[in-house]
Order: sequence, then C-alpha cells, then structure tokens
Amino acid sequence: MQERVLVTGGAGFLGSHLCERLVREGADVLCVDNFYTGSRRNVQSLLDSKSFELMRHDVCFPLYVEVDQIYNLACPASPIHYQFDPVQTTKTSVHGAINMLGLAKRVKAKILQASTSEVYGDPEVHPQVESYWGRVNPIGLRSCYDEGKRCAETLFFDYWRQHHLRVKVVRIFNTYGPRMHPNDGRVVSNFIVQALQGKDITIYGTGQQTRSFCYVDDLLDAMMRTMRTGDDFTGPVNIGNPGEFTMLELAEKVLSLTGSRSKLVFAPLPADDPRQRQPDISLARDKLGWEPKVTLEDGLRETIAYFRSIVA
Ligand code: NAD
Ligand code: UDP
Ligand code: UDP
Repeated sequence: MQERVLVTGGAGFLGSHLCERLVREGADVLCVDNFYTGSRRNVQSLLDSKSFELMRHDVCFPLYVEVDQIYNLACPASPIHYQFDPVQTTKTSVHGAINMLGLAKRVKAKILQASTSEVYGDPEVHPQVESYWGRVNPIGLRSCYDEGKRCAETLFFDYWRQHHLRVKVVRIFNTYGPRMHPNDGRVVSNFIVQALQGKDITIYGTGQQTRSFCYVDDLLDAMMRTMRTGDDFTGPVNIGNPGEFTMLELAEKVLSLTGSRSKLVFAPLPADDPRQRQPDISLARDKLGWEPKVTLEDGLRETIAYFRSIVA
C-alpha cells in the first residue's frame, strides 16, 4: 500500500524539497503549513499530483489525520524570522511537537523531528558530537529557537520512553540550496543576493567565525535514510557537511562564482553568534551509511543559478 506521509512545514525550503522527493518515491504526501515563512509557490509543481495534498494549518493546534509517518519540520529557521515573533517560535517547537507526538501516538506513526545544531549553542567541544550537551544561553535572543528545539527533543525522548513511540531525531547543521528565502538573512542567501545585485557583502564581526554548509540534496538523503532505520535507532544523529569555512572564505567563493565586483563591508556580530560549528558525522556514517557528496562550489553554483532566476 502507498505509504501516507505527513510533512509539517512542507511548504518551506527543506520541506518542499522533501515533499518532492517523497512523491517521486511513491508516497502519498500530506503537506501541512501555516505559510509563515513557506509558500504555495514552493510546492507549485506538486499541486496537480494525485499523491499530494496541501493543508493550511498551524501545528500549535491539534491535527486529526491518518498517516503512517510524520516528518516534523514546522518552525521558522532563520534568525530574522524566528526572532520576529519569538513567543510564537517557542510555541511552534513545543506545542507543535506535543501535537505531532500525540498524533503519532494515536495512529502509531513513526515520527522524525528536524532538530538543529543550535542545540549545541556556542560550543566548547569541536567538532560537535551527539553526546555533547551544548552551551546554550536560556534567556538570549536565540533562546526561543535553541531552547524550543531542545524542549522538542526532550518531548520526543519522553514519548519514546513513556509511550514507546517510534521516534527519530536529526540535528541539522546549516543547509543551503535553491528555494531558500531571499530575505531570510541567512548568510548563503544574503551573500549570493548581494553579489548578484552588486551590493556590498555584509560580513558580521571579523568574518573569522566558521560554519559547515550542507547542500539540500545531501541533507534529504540523510533525513530519509534516518526515517528508514530500524525501530531501535532513535538518534539524535548529526546531519551536515563537515567541510568548515570562515564567513570570509564563503564570501570569496561567492564573489568568484558569481563574477561579482561587490565589496566586503563589516557589520557588528549579532548577540550569541556561535564562533565555530562543524558536525562530527561518524554516527551518520556508521548508522545511515551516508556522507555528503556535493562540494560547496557545486552546491553554490546550483544555488546561484536559482537566485539569478528570481532576483534581478
Ligand atoms: P523554512 O522557514 O523555509 O521552513 C519552515 C516551514 O515551517 C515554513 O514553510 C513555515 O511556513 C512553516 N511553519 C512555521 N511555523 C509553523 C506552524 N506553527 N505551523 C505550521 N507550519 C509552520 O525553514 P527550513 O530551512 O526549511 O527549515 C525546516 C526545518 O529544518 C525547521 O524545523 C528548522 O528548524 C530545521 N533546520 C533547518 C536548518 C537549515 O539550515 N535550513 C538547520 C537546522 C534545522
Ligand atoms: N493530538 C492531535 N492529534 C491526534 C491526537 C492528539 O493533535 O490525533 C494532540 C492533542 O490535542 C493533545 C496532544 O496531541 O493535546 C498530545 O496528545 P497525548 O495523547 O499525548 O496527550 P493528551 O491527549 O493526554 O493531552
Ligand atoms: N552572517 C554574516 N553576514 C550575513 C549573514 C550572516 O556574516 O549577511 C554570519 C552570521 O553572523 C553567522 C554566520 O554568518 O556567523 C551564519 O549565519 P546564519 O544566520 O546563516 O546561520 P546561523 O548563525 O544560524 O548558523
């Protein structure tokens, strides 16, 4: 029988790519989204498919549907968006997790949580391993997101221990690719849009802070492999590309790949901005038989081509 899969946040950047992949692989997909940062346009190509249904709904409210699997991605992911209405961000992570876990419990569905490397905060352990508990400010500007996601992980593991749900938690490190929101303030979209428009490239702080960037296709491979693991595997499992770059290196790559003559300008570093981030993906290699394949240059080329098509 066709597997019925619910994707919350399915009209967002990662969610829309996931819905496409699931439909392509033969699933019957229910995409639930309140269009806070996502859009119908992101899933336009699926709207005519008999295997795809789009529902406007906020996961902070209960949802009664019948499904076999749930990918819980609903949550704004960029600092600009999640800090715009921080109370709503925490509600989405926490109430959303409770409702989706309650749903999974009732229908006995397998459920995967899109967690984040932000659960490690500004880390003292480098690269980050899953056993590291993190260093997160509980009352800062990023806390609505970081602590909301940490509490969602707590709920997943308590439903697992208490109600024996089949849960999976993936900790996603910075991911980029076509369909990122052009104004969401994330570094890859900002630099590319600035380069294409000939505007100054905004480096926050000294530009020496590091991130590890994973291309969306690689990320989805790992996420779907995690969903397919046996019931004894819950994670949390890091998913990301271990290649680590400073923001200055990223800016140089974007300038050379776009052929732009934009200048670099320096702006203040936002509060609690992590200084370094790199996933240890040994567990994903071992349990998922996965590692990323797309180099930063190749992924940036695809992403630049997408942004060329939507911004002047
Ligand atoms: P996105 O903002 O493009 O997608 C989030 C989607 O969730 C949007 O379509 C939005 O409208 C929807 N949404 C938000 N609140 C909702 C609510 N209350 N009810 C229903 N839908 C709601 O972001 P993304 O990059 O695609 O991220 C998807 C998931 O992956 C998020 O949970 C995010 O925390 C996680 N993640 C992403 C990254 C990354 O680098 N992209 C890194 C770590 C974790
Ligand atoms: N829930 C839901 N859909 C369902 C079943 C439950 O949205 O199909 C919500 C329900 O509103 C509840 C939450 O999930 O608030 C948690 O459900 P659970 O059964 O764990 O707890 P309880 O109903 O006892 O609060
Ligand atoms: N950043 C930057 N210029 C920008 C946007 C972001 O230098 O125009 C920096 C930001 O301060 C951070 C890094 O790039 O150090 C990654 O930022 P992003 O918001 O993409 O992700 P996150 O901080 O959540 O990892």
